[in-house]
Amino acid sequence: MSLNRRHFLTLTAAAPFAPHLALASDVLNIVATTGMIADTARRIGGSHVAVRALMGPGVDPHAYRQTRSDITAMTRADLVLWHGLYLEAQMEEFLVKLARRRASVAVADDMPRDLLISHAAYDGRFDPHVWMVPALWTHVARRIAEVLSETRPDAADDFATNLAVFEADLTKLQSYGETVLGTVPEDARVLLTAHDAFGYFGRAFGYEVIGIQGISTESEAGLNRISSLVDTLVTRKIGAAFVESSVSDRNIRALIEGATAQGHEVSIGGELFSDAMGADGTYEATYIGMIDHNITTIAAALGGTVPARGMSGNLSVGS
Ligand code: ZN
Repeated sequence: MSLNRRHFLTLTAAAPFAPHLALASDVLNIVATTGMIADTARRIGGSHVAVRALMGPGVDPHAYRQTRSDITAMTRADLVLWHGLYLEAQMEEFLVKLARRRASVAVADDMPRDLLISHAAYDGRFDPHVWMVPALWTHVARRIAEVLSETRPDAADDFATNLAVFEADLTKLQSYGETVLGTVPEDARVLLTAHDAFGYFGRAFGYEVIGIQGISTESEAGLNRISSLVDTLVTRKIGAAFVESSVSDRNIRALIEGATAQGHEVSIGGELFSDAMGADGTYEATYIGMIDHNITTIAAALGGTVPARGMSGNLSVGS
């Protein structure tokens, strides 16, 4: 693309009457850190963008460190979109430096503060897992549309149209979540997961959330934490715990074994896409599919009533 563009610029330099036409049709080359940001940028950018996500399925953003080829991709991109709120903890230093030289935006950093959850246990920072709730992700989607429009003002109308369609999908998904998660018996609304990624989800849908590890996966859960959680499972008769696609299931299995040893059976409620999306090419590799999967899996495992294959019948069989 850079070769083509150089070629075009050479040509247009000699054709002063229409110098912007060539650039207007040029595709914006975007690198995004997470799959959720990449998918959202694709939805809003449409045919004006080519987006690459650095972190694929199963990749933990808290622990991910940029590779050599990532650095090359980011320094060549027209625009780098990253999450911020200290999600990309290992990449933060690089991303902040990059922002001084390149068009690079942390798309969740401007979220209204009153919508964010702050955590003393996480160095006083905000919980970054805002994608878990469609109504919150709307803010990030709008920010992405704003950044795209600033970068390519000529396509701003298309971005606005695409944003409106995506926002309608987010609204539908939010209301689907409220409906099906509301069918779970109230005393069963406890979400036990490998790390604390579901704080916003719990607040939005009225669930108590318990993460074995904290907000970030960087800190290891100690044996004391595991054994006190085993006691919680047993005394409160919690029947299901969830594994996450981007975190080892070791702690969840230790919990289940501990509960079994005390005569209380806990099942695995399914695998959730906490910090990364599903396999490439599947519905679960889209933002909407990822969250549909989480909502549907949680509601089904905890005794709620869910439609077969989720909100629109698109979920993969067995999810
Ligand atoms: Zn996380």
